[in-house]
Amino acid sequence: MSRYWSDLTHTLQPYVPGEQPRVPELVKLNTNESPYGPSPQALEAIRAEATDSLRLYPDPQATALREALARRHDLSADQVFVGNGSDEVLGHAFAALLKRDRPLLIADVTYSFYSVWCGLYGVEHETVPLDVDLRVRVADYRRPAGAIIVANPNAPTGIALPRAEIAALLAEHADIPVVVDEAYVDFGGESAVSLIGEHPNLLVVQTMSKSRGLAGLRVGYAMGDAALIDGLTRVKDSFNSYPLGRPAQAGALASVEDEAYFRETCAAVVAERERLTVGLERLGLAVLPSSANFVFAAHPVVPGAAIAAELRGRAVLVRRFDAPRIANHLRITVGAPAQNDRLLAALQDILATA
Ligand code: PMP
Repeated sequence: MSRYWSDLTHTLQPYVPGEQPRVPELVKLNTNESPYGPSPQALEAIRAEATDSLRLYPDPQATALREALARRHDLSADQVFVGNGSDEVLGHAFAALLKRDRPLLIADVTYSFYSVWCGLYGVEHETVPLDVDLRVRVADYRRPAGAIIVANPNAPTGIALPRAEIAALLAEHADIPVVVDEAYVDFGGESAVSLIGEHPNLLVVQTMSKSRGLAGLRVGYAMGDAALIDGLTRVKDSFNSYPLGRPAQAGALASVEDEAYFRETCAAVVAERERLTVGLERLGLAVLPSSANFVFAAHPVVPGAAIAAELRGRAVLVRRFDAPRIANHLRITVGAPAQNDRLLAALQDILATA
């Protein structure tokens, strides 16, 4: 608190990211990072950028990267926007598209950053409760609204909506912008990208942080009708013309071009997710059906906060949100097999004495 703060700064309730402690031997399953790391080709491309050329500004439009993303998603480059992590891309979407006269609709249980951007950009919003099974129900969004944002798969539940449901949502709300945050789509969700041609109100946001193992590089992107992308670019160029440095542009481009590594590592995470789910269920936890690189699980008797604290004492970090309806759940990132084994062993130990 300071008298030098602006009025706005006093009102902000910032997002609190998962911890990044530096503890040796820590099993870190709290921020949905990839256990596999980036494509070796991406690392090579990043290293190749560490030259004297760093004295020059990067391409402000990240043209080569946008073209590569456009090729991969069957779009044109003017339908692709890139930014410093999908958080930045989403933030720009709030300013460029989601601030309207009528409220933005947000699920009651979803990525908690959405309401933070509402505070930052003065976006009025209403929450739409997930159903009793913590699923998004498209019919519940039939109400007066200025815009809609959904995460698909949703976070922290991991539950995905089929593409047909997103298509129904878009058709019912053709006159307002609809943002679909697909941070976790590569682990088994159905992307809405193929709906972009028919739906000029659709913006799909993805990230390289999860399925491409590049959380530390900070690259996210949005895809949609060229007019929506133009709106995002106007906001970006009123904020920071060069959100992606040369190493980030080069590394992200090489990652997009290494489809084989991408598929292999996503498939490995999905296989481990199924093994982890079975292991958790054997220990008596209820696990929501996940299409993401994490699972959302709760024990019927032992409180989530107690389990999380005990895990932490055994150098295993998971995430818990102190929010209504989900305070008892743990969000557990799917780690490498050895990490998942350590989590399961620690849980077995904790539950045996609980
Ligand atoms: N959307 C969702 C649903 C997320 O969980 C996250 C990760 N915290 C993001 C977006 C942002 O990821 P990044 O900025 O690393 O692309």
